[in-house]
Amino acid sequence: MPGPREDCLFCKLVRDGDHIRAADGFVAIADINPQAPTHLLVLPERHVDTFRDVAEFPPEEAARMLAFVAATAAESGLTDYRVVVNVGPGGGQTVFHLHWHILGGRPMGEEL
Ligand code: 5GP
Ligand code: ZN
Repeated sequence: MPGPREDCLFCKLVRDGDHIRAADGFVAIADINPQAPTHLLVLPERHVDTFRDVAEFPPEEAARMLAFVAATAAESGLTDYRVVVNVGPGGGQTVFHLHWHILGGRPMGEEL
């Protein structure tokens, strides 16, 4: 398993950040610039560049990641919410350590 990347912001937050939840190789943190009353980020503890790399995940790890996203939303009291992954610069990705946005606490319309 590759180690943390020294130059990766989210590898640093995996080590030193405030974790809302951590289990099973995944952590949830609060987004520093929330776009909704609840805006969480779920990331794998190990460094993974983008969602594209999920194509090579062992199926069991991919399943555990999805379950962690859903459990994080549920434990945060959300029933209705939006899950977003931005993939690559053209997809709006700005931090190149895979993360899932969980957005909720307001009606989610067209805007992110
Ligand atoms: P992306 O644009 O890559 O999909 O999402 C990156 C997210 O990381 C943005 O929503 C941004 O607000 C969040 N972010 C950037 N820097 C930090 C930070 O230092 N701490 C936290 N908790 N979130 C951050
Ligand atoms: Zn990283």
